[in-house]
Amino acid sequence: MTTGKSFVLALTSTFTSVALSGSFDAGREVDAQRLRAQGAPVVRDSKGTEYLQIDDVLIPLTRAGTKAIFPGRAWPNGVVYYEFSSSVTSDQKKIFEGAAAMWSAVSALTFVEDNKQKGRILVETDSGAGCGSSVVGYGGNVQALKIAPHCWSGRTPAHEIGHAIGLAHEHQHTKQETVIEIDGGELEKTCPDLYRVNYHPLTSSNSETAYDFASIMHYSSSSSLKCKGTSMTVKIKAIAAQPAGAPAGSANACTAASDCTKLMGATKMSGRDAYGAAQRYGYRINYDPAVALVFSGTPVSCGKGCASFAVGAKVVVTAQDSNGKKARLAGDCVGVGTCELAMDGNKKVSVAY
Ligand SMILES: [Zn+2]
Repeated sequence: MTTGKSFVLALTSTFTSVALSGSFDAGREVDAQRLRAQGAPVVRDSKGTEYLQIDDVLIPLTRAGTKAIFPGRAWPNGVVYYEFSSSVTSDQKKIFEGAAAMWSAVSALTFVEDNKQKGRILVETDSGAGCGSSVVGYGGNVQALKIAPHCWSGRTPAHEIGHAIGLAHEHQHTKQETVIEIDGGELEKTCPDLYRVNYHPLTSSNSETAYDFASIMHYSSSSSLKCKGTSMTVKIKAIAAQPAGAPAGSANACTAASDCTKLMGATKMSGRDAYGAAQRYGYRINYDPAVALVFSGTPVSCGKGCASFAVGAKVVVTAQDSNGKKARLAGDCVGVGTCELAMDGNKKVSVAY
């Protein structure tokens, strides 16, 4: 990340009127050569895979990679596999797993350390790649997630995991033009492709929820990007209050545009971030895998003793043994033989015969 907590700057500067024209087509191939010429570096992971780096977003330098940078594909069944490279210390592993647990607590996402899976995150500590960087969404192969030694704290680990699970930057929300004004400054003039990829709205990504100034995926009001060797500043200013939308309470994050500008660059996951992850991955029911439970609807297996469902699903849970003896269900769902769960969060069900 090259963003900093420098909203004071933005509040005291004069914004020129900037027309945001055009959106970035999520399916369009990026022109890697032009982006490289404008200063986007090529970086490698410890297994030798090359990526084009656009601020903190890594784009695998393969035809498939440059064709489909946004929107991030969801991880199959919500199970995210990861491997730590030897560069990651035991303390940093704990920080990564703590940040992953935050996303897992608010959705059906499950993170599993497994270096045998074909599609997996390769977590690395790397001082050469800004503060952090990640591929956006599931790539199907080994995909790097890098964090610099001094950035294993605060916003960066949770933000990069947000990219890895498929979230683009919030300021590139489809509806950005209704709520923010961007002053692209010299970057827009000198490195227009870099500017476009990094600041224009996306036609479809990250838009499961209404725009969220408090998102951990939002840039701060002053960010910078290296363009042809020079660091150039881009300013973002809110021009509206937080838009209405789910979940309850999230629209109250800021009610005046000036306050909304101050929220940009949040260090913690917001309620709307959590809800967006659930919209994408659903909520899960955890239960004892030794007990056969039957679920109504369309459960997705998220591992042993784990079934996930869409947000808002009504699930009937049934438990009886082979002799027809009904079980007593307890936990978030109480009943004899059956019980019903409204999937408004992650749930646990226990069973006793
Ligand atoms: Zn980012």
